[in-house]
Amino acid sequence: MKKVALVTGSSRGIGAAIAEALSREGWAVCINYIERRDKAEELAARLREAGGEVLVQQADVADRAAVERMVENTRRELGDITLLVNNAGIAKQEQFQDIREETWRRIFDVNVNGCFHCTQAVLGPMLHEHAGCIVNISSIWGSHGASCEATYSSTKHAIIGLTRSLAAELAPTGIRVNAVAPGVIDTDMVQVLGQETLDYLAREIPLGRLGRPEEIAETVLHLVNARYLTGQVVTVDGGFLP
Ligand code: NAD
Repeated sequence: MKKVALVTGSSRGIGAAIAEALSREGWAVCINYIERRDKAEELAARLREAGGEVLVQQADVADRAAVERMVENTRRELGDITLLVNNAGIAKQEQFQDIREETWRRIFDVNVNGCFHCTQAVLGPMLHEHAGCIVNISSIWGSHGASCEATYSSTKHAIIGLTRSLAAELAPTGIRVNAVAPGVIDTDMVQVLGQETLDYLAREIPLGRLGRPEEIAETVLHLVNARYLTGQVVTVDGGFLP
């Protein structure tokens, strides 16, 4: 079967690194973005220059109809999706009593319902072919509590629950489902913490630095290629959390 991947939220950061790594390995890749068309097109141009087959699609993963359109366009342009990387995610730091209901709902809509929409949208052909791979991007805060990030941490716990449940349900069909739990990775998402906090975190991390998006992409590639591996959550955090 043709290797066709959809990586959500892949115009920058970890998603862009995953799209790039997959393209280098011969995957046709759909780059999904929500706002930054320029960044998505820039990445697509770079990958095409290196010989990659790439499609750029705008869609808010929280919007089921938009996701279905994106998946249909990908099927038409590249072929059936055989690898889904649920990477799109948002976070907000605030004390629990200050969280507004709309913030709580939006973070769940993107981080959890986004996985639900994308996974359901790609599953039909995977079930038909008895093959396929899904990699969900969770977080170390998906198995540990995160002060002032209760919403984000709850969504990342949910993603791990979804990964393990779906892996059990889909194993007899040959479809594998795994997750990556990154630690502190140097992307736009963590810049809100400020340089002082990032320096402090780097000192606290046994490997002595923040992770790089490419290092999460490496692990995604490993999960994609490890054909006897399903239902696993791989932590990639430089030894940060015990
Ligand atoms: P980032 O903010 O640079 O990238 C997030 C991407 O998701 C962006 O491209 C953004 O446009 C996209 N996105 C956001 N909402 C979307 C939506 N509704 N529909 C489609 N795309 C949407 O952050 P990142 O660090 O690259 O994060 C990627 C994933 O890794 C996220 O799921 C994040 O929770 C997870 N993660 C990051 C870290 C870290 O330290 N950076 C740690 C653990 C987990």
